[in-house]
Amino acid sequence: MDIIHLLSDHIANQIAAGEVVQRPSSVVKELLENAIDAQATSIKLIIKDSGKTLVQVIDDGQGMSITDCRMCFERHATSKISQSDDLYAIRTMGFRGEALASIAAVAQVEVRTRREADELGTQLRIEGSEFLGQEPISTAKGTNMLVRNIFFNVPARRKFLKSNSVEMKHILDEFQKVALAYPEIAFELHHNDIEMYKLVAENLPKRIVDLFGKNYRQQLAHCEEATPYVSISGFVGKPESAKKTRGDQYFFINRRFVKSNYLHHAITTAFEGTIAEGYHPFYVLNIDIDPSHIDINIHPQKTEIKFDDERAVYGILRSAVRQAIGVYNLTPSIDFESDINFGNLTNRPLPEKKPSAFERSGSSIQNFERKEPSQWKPLYEGLESAANRQESTGHISLSSKANKTAEQQAEDQDFKPETEEVDAIQIHLKYLVLQVKSGMLLIDQKAAWERILFEQYLKNLQNKSGASQQLLFQKTLELDPASFALAQELKTEIHALGFAFEIFGKSSLIIHGIPAELNDDDGAKILKDLIAQYKENETELNLNKVQNLAQSLSKRAAGKQMKVMDKREIRAMINRLFESSLPNYTPDGQKVMKIIPLAEIAELISKSNGF
Ligand code: ADP
Ligand code: MG
Repeated sequence: MDIIHLLSDHIANQIAAGEVVQRPSSVVKELLENAIDAQATSIKLIIKDSGKTLVQVIDDGQGMSITDCRMCFERHATSKISQSDDLYAIRTMGFRGEALASIAAVAQVEVRTRREADELGTQLRIEGSEFLGQEPISTAKGTNMLVRNIFFNVPARRKFLKSNSVEMKHILDEFQKVALAYPEIAFELHHNDIEMYKLVAENLPKRIVDLFGKNYRQQLAHCEEATPYVSISGFVGKPESAKKTRGDQYFFINRRFVKSNYLHHAITTAFEGTIAEGYHPFYVLNIDIDPSHIDINIHPQKTEIKFDDERAVYGILRSAVRQAIGVYNLTPSIDFESDINFGNLTNRPLPEKKPSAFERSGSSIQNFERKEPSQWKPLYEGLESAANRQESTGHISLSSKANKTAEQQAEDQDFKPETEEVDAIQIHLKYLVLQVKSGMLLIDQKAAWERILFEQYLKNLQNKSGASQQLLFQKTLELDPASFALAQELKTEIHALGFAFEIFGKSSLIIHGIPAELNDDDGAKILKDLIAQYKENETELNLNKVQNLAQSLSKRAAGKQMKVMDKREIRAMINRLFESSLPNYTPDGQKVMKIIPLAEIAELISKSNGF
């Protein structure tokens, strides 16, 4: 007797459901994605008992016909692809046609739906894959999907659901991901009749603030890079807002949330030299890419993804993030009025290719290549030398030109000084004060030198080209055994930094040259400090050798720069600062400068009036 038989649809669906539906949040994800694919502009999520009793999604999307409403619960039933080629052009969130069949296999489902053109809608009930009935109903345009008592017919799985708070956390995670990917869609979330979120359609920074809180407002740096292969857009947290706990890191590809350790690495290394080890940056980034370059068909949960050129994406992503936290991020806060939105990206024509983006993916040193000095010049646009102008936009001119009137822009041109005219005041040998368009720019002199010298030393180390000045009298430096061993190990690198020394005996060095910038005859002490600092960094920050040395020496050497500077020197210093890759931050993430807007200055003064 033959023993092989086909499984009934019901059992087949239940088995398939195991892949798709793990817990209430899986239902949330699938239903939200369907609503988005149906072009909804407003989506309401209603949850009871952390989804164990009810997951309901109401959308105002395109709805379904009577037959489609019946069909959508069949396995492999989808409106989104029809031939295998379509798999390489997927722009929708769903495409497998499995979700509703799986959900209906393990829950009690009721759907009401109506297309705009239809007078009457249709209502259908299905439980444990068993069709219970369908009738006409008058209902709003769109789809209202109710999923009750998940796993009502699979007690073993129902038993394994976690506590209400854990299941609700999973639901919130799914909700937040989708809400971040689609800021132009309005979302609501109700749990046990309590409104948890009511998000209006808006741009991405506003959505981030609505979801995570007001204090994110000041923390966001706009990140944008477009190449013919991919476009990257979104926001990263400024380095000083990095947190001890990981989380709040969202990465989307064509607005689909994905996990990629490789690309996560690209982002975290972009922050290298700006945040300490053990801290995690915030980010919400979307990569827009032609679907033919990716394969999303590798995991039912679809949070993993394959690219045909992962390395290129890595390089572009890293350089985009680096730019975001660098010179372009001098605005005191991002501009909440201009419409920065994932949505804009998809339809936008791509600008010309920037070849350097691909080339920036090499070693960390290559990332410190100098930028065009012209990049910082906009900072001084609108800077006036003597005339007093009342107007303040709260932004330095670096912020988007888009929110300025043509008149304002013309005015900027008038006031645009030659860089020679940049005037700064040095106070207490510690700070520089500069007038910029929106107010006052304060620069911490020591921090600035740390950044400048750090990059200079990196370059020296790379080219083995540190300029050394001969000491008039050579010095002997006694070291403890550990430091001595370290000095031997790092001999080549220390030479590249501009120190000239010989090993002498079993524990000494004879120093006859020190780096040119130091201008200090106490070279022996600095070298000793350098080694000590190197040891400290090594255990604390786990930086690579070259970075560590450059960072250590720049910290030491910056302290030696606290002296009176004349105008020419100040100008040269500021030039060098803005030519560096990240003028805003020291290599260990301290702020180098801050803009104080005119309004804040006025407030400070009026406060002291005592009214
Ligand atoms: P998939 O999303 O992979 O196509 P699903 O099982 O999630 O598979 O959905 C099956 C089909 O049902 C979809 O292709 C779509 O045509 C239809 N559908 C599901 N949800 C909605 C909705 N909210 N509005 C309109 N149509 C929907
Ligand atoms: Mg779907």
